[in-house]
Amino acid sequence: MTPEEILKEVAEQTRVCTRCPLHLSRKNAVPGVGTPNTQIMFIGEGPGFHENEQGLPFVGAAGNFLDELLSDAGFTREEVFITNVVKCRPPGNRDPEPEELNACKIYLERQIAAINPDVIVTLGRVSMGYFIDKGKISSIHGRDFWSHGRMVVAMYHPAAALHQPSLRSVVKEDFKKLPFLIDKAQAARQATAESQATSAKPQGEDTEDFDKPEQLSLF
Ligand code: SF4
Repeated sequence: MTPEEILKEVAEQTRVCTRCPLHLSRKNAVPGVGTPNTQIMFIGEGPGFHENEQGLPFVGAAGNFLDELLSDAGFTREEVFITNVVKCRPPGNRDPEPEELNACKIYLERQIAAINPDVIVTLGRVSMGYFIDKGKISSIHGRDFWSHGRMVVAMYHPAAALHQPSLRSVVKEDFKKLPFLIDKAQAARQATAESQATSAKPQGEDTEDFDKPEQLSLF
């Protein structure tokens, strides 16, 4: 299957999915939107009220601010892929439960594998915790980590900046780092690929360098 076909199949599956209780209160599943031909994925925590109504991620005020942040980084919404760790709205916008995250991860994992982005940007605490197992968002936002061979950058959720105006400039500065971080991620992946191609790989041994999340650098 092509990446486009995989994303389409995932979207169709989520719309009829009953793998967790969130299907009971959903109006529309929100599988994600964007292109598979991108270096960067943005992953939030779950659909809110407006997203549940429309079946699209990051609409309303938070979505408008995300569009502004993308523009700061040199992107349009059509040039990236945007989704959430759970595809159906948790009632009352509560955090997704661990069982819900676990039930829904098959869809996110297929989306990540199909798109194969150089950089994953997590939006908010819940999404960050999915990829980075330690640290508070207040101390690690805007910094790059590696998880399973891929750069992960934790950002505040755009809605947090709307509720707390002092975060607005912080989030905007973090987004402006993204072009540099994409270049850095591409260079690191290229170096790893070249290293693996030129070094003799002992039979049966996994030479993956980035099995565990690890901080690479600070700004
Ligand atoms: S949140 Fe995910 S696992 Fe749960 S019903 Fe929706 S699509 Fe299925």
